[in-house]
Amino acid sequence: LGSARTLWELVARRAELTPDRPVLLQDDRSLTFGELRARSERVAAGLYERGVRPGTVVAWQLPTRIETALLSFALARLGAVQSPVIPFYRDREVGFALRESKAEFFAVPGVWRGFDHTEMARRLGARGTFQAYDGDELPDAEPSLLPPPPSDGTSVRWIYWTSGTTSDPKGVLHTDRSLIAGGSCLAHALRLTESDVGSMAFPYAHIAGPDYTVMLLLYGFPAVMFEQFALPDALEGYREHGVTVAGGSTAFYSMFLAEQRKQPGVPVIPSLRLLAGGGAPKPPEVYHAVVREMGVELTHGYGMTEVPMITMGAPDDTAENLATTEGRPPEGMEIRVVEGEVRLRGEAVCQGYLDPAQTAEAFDEDGFLRTGDLGFLTGSGHLVLTGRLKDVIIRKGENISAKEIEDLLHTHPAVDDVAVVGLPDAERGELVCAVVEQAEGAGELTLSALASFLRAEGLSVHKLPERLEVVDALPRNETLRKVLKYKLRERYSEPEFSPQPES
Ligand code: ATP
Ligand code: MG
Repeated sequence: LGSARTLWELVARRAELTPDRPVLLQDDRSLTFGELRARSERVAAGLYERGVRPGTVVAWQLPTRIETALLSFALARLGAVQSPVIPFYRDREVGFALRESKAEFFAVPGVWRGFDHTEMARRLGARGTFQAYDGDELPDAEPSLLPPPPSDGTSVRWIYWTSGTTSDPKGVLHTDRSLIAGGSCLAHALRLTESDVGSMAFPYAHIAGPDYTVMLLLYGFPAVMFEQFALPDALEGYREHGVTVAGGSTAFYSMFLAEQRKQPGVPVIPSLRLLAGGGAPKPPEVYHAVVREMGVELTHGYGMTEVPMITMGAPDDTAENLATTEGRPPEGMEIRVVEGEVRLRGEAVCQGYLDPAQTAEAFDEDGFLRTGDLGFLTGSGHLVLTGRLKDVIIRKGENISAKEIEDLLHTHPAVDDVAVVGLPDAERGELVCAVVEQAEGAGELTLSALASFLRAEGLSVHKLPERLEVVDALPRNETLRKVLKYKLRERYSEPEFSPQPES
């Protein structure tokens, strides 16, 4: 199946192989591979009737539900260009996505937006509008109307949005081929088999959605979908369906761990064998705690909207590598590190960005994508990430890693969370500013106390924070709760508000 050129070809071939096996499970519903093909085809015909053609741009903002997968595969069947938008995005981000992608149709569930969708799409700047779907209201028509499915896997059919951590979100162009490559790498790294049961507890509109589904198609196993992820309901779903592989970001591991600690020694999910996730840094302590206390394996990986799977820990790797690295790249993914920056080339890499100027900047002379992430490869070929290029603070010409200071501050008892940013400074170029979420009950935190702590930890003087801001909550994005440092830079670069105007 790995040789399938398009996503639809993959669906069709899998439906021939194991039509009656389930692929998606949700609440008390299940969809088989055969039904996935048949129903997506009817939805595709319904969309075709409404004017969606190969190449038409269709944006959708839909939850993690079976219907969403059907709509997405219907669009793949038609050869339309789809632009998934994360459910919690609001008008500002949605309008941006619709305008930038020049979407002609926009699919949203009726239940969410209790007002006139035509009006809304117009207000948000889309050129046309597409009726909202409300659960069972997917378009439906006779598939005999349909033109043949697309045969090439190398046209742009996906526009994904980056998280907007470092600037406005960027529209990332993917092809069926790059998504299939990403999904097969993931499946291979995790050593999955057809007897596994997976879970999708992340937004299906995230690039991990189709990537995960590719994995299901390749190996023929099902996954449980969660529209709202909340323990303990989710745990019931995991247990009921016998989930063997659960995944998500670092926050998930901690959630499971907390649950485990309520009843040490009693497996939280008896069928679980592997926790697999990525997308955000993972402290080594978390790895060790999960393995020791939950008795399951944990593999963690590195990915980005531009390249959904870059490296991944393999379950049979050493504990040391699994705890301290992001794993190794799959076959076909070339990694090189230039001046500390990780660069990538391979089939799973995106075609570029919607904005050609961004594309030109992003690829180097040999066609490697500049990730903007800093890291190095160990002797055994494992990748270690050390921060982001935009996270390097240059003070008096010296490069300072924000991550290094953050890692140390995380070990301070009064620090719950922290972000270190560089702020423009006339004299030094940039100065080091620590923004801290203070732990409850901790006494007042001062700059000099933090500085002495860091000195005692061995941090060199030129890296010491020169400014401290204590906040209730760091600004974060919705998807992975990543700290939005550009907002901090904006906030604290402003001249300080002075309540006493000079007379
Ligand atoms: P933008 O590009 O708009 O600034 P973003 O890069 O945060 O936003 P995503 O594509 O969602 O948007 O995130 C990819 C980034 O997440 C990577 O470039 C990397 O910085 C970070 N990341 C991914 N996996 C890991 C990981 N395992 N450890 C640390 N950081 C990670
Ligand atoms: Mg990015």
